[in-house]
Amino acid sequence: MTLLTPQEAIRSLQAGNERFVSGRLEARDLGTEIRNTASGAHPFAAVLGCIDSRVPPELIFDQSLGALYCARVAGSILDDAVLASLEFACCVSGAALLVVLGHTDCGAVKGACAGLRQGTLTKAFEQLAPALAAAKSSCPNEPASSTNPAFVNLVAQEHVALTLAEIKQRCPALAAAEEQGTLDLVGAFYDVQTGVVMFSDIAPS
Ligand SMILES: [Zn+2]
Repeated sequence: MTLLTPQEAIRSLQAGNERFVSGRLEARDLGTEIRNTASGAHPFAAVLGCIDSRVPPELIFDQSLGALYCARVAGSILDDAVLASLEFACCVSGAALLVVLGHTDCGAVKGACAGLRQGTLTKAFEQLAPALAAAKSSCPNEPASSTNPAFVNLVAQEHVALTLAEIKQRCPALAAAEEQGTLDLVGAFYDVQTGVVMFSDIAPS
């Protein structure tokens, strides 16, 4: 097993997404992958993404079994359990990259933009309020409506940036790993129309 550096981990995800978009996926045999990971796996990256059925990290990054830790929550919202999962993935198991993955046309973000209140979902929508405020502030001329795709996507992108900052603030171990250079925390944004992932916050290599 060769451990990847954070920069190699990013390049692996970028290359995988290029394969996904072009339709030239890596040839895989799932039976072989099951056997190869039966005694353990060493995922090189952790992804906090949305439950949206169109955005499965293993597929959009064209990765094999055992390559990624994936935490998927509506709106890619952080909570204690997710944070603990990310700390385990990166600080205990040794993943070299932590990706907060947002996407266009996110239902949770649209709910927050519409001010919806619905059972246990209400709390999730409330957690998107800071991103909503940030988007209104950064683009005051954009109509702040759940039916305005440009605004909805802006809120989702702000949420990715705020979540990265929140992870570092709430989890000293992850912040320290980044400080030491053994871990990179990056934002990424998936376009449901094209399949393309754009990365942000990538340090120059
Ligand atoms: Zn979503």
